[in-house]
Amino acid sequence: MALRTYTGSCHCGAVRFEAEVDLEAGTSRCNCSICFKGRFWKAVIPASGLHVLQGEAELASYRFSSHSVCHLFCRRCGIKPFGRVRLQAGDFVAVNVACLDDVDDAVLAALPVQFEDGRHEHWDRAPDVTTHL
Ligand SMILES: [Zn+2]
Repeated sequence: MALRTYTGSCHCGAVRFEAEVDLEAGTSRCNCSICFKGRFWKAVIPASGLHVLQGEAELASYRFSSHSVCHLFCRRCGIKPFGRVRLQAGDFVAVNVACLDDVDDAVLAALPVQFEDGRHEHWDRAPDVTTHL
């Protein structure tokens, strides 16, 4: 367990944030309709662990289906640095691991990844095929 504070940003730099994440505790990829198209690679943390340093006003939101997740993207460059979700257990943020700015490629490549079958609403198990996610 290694909770670290990472800095992150969207592509154009309008949105900058800090996130307290334990990447070794696990990251995840999902095959649901939006994660699949956006190639979203996430680390879920309590909302209190995310601090937007700049660009909150540049964040546009997108909701669909149950509207339970607030998908946020930079209105300038379109990159989604994180999304916010309210669950029974509390408020959480799904940080886009690819938006963290100070992580070596070799470290990223070695991170544990849990696959989720969100397409069939089974986030607790992996889909049959995962290599394309
Ligand atoms: Zn941007």
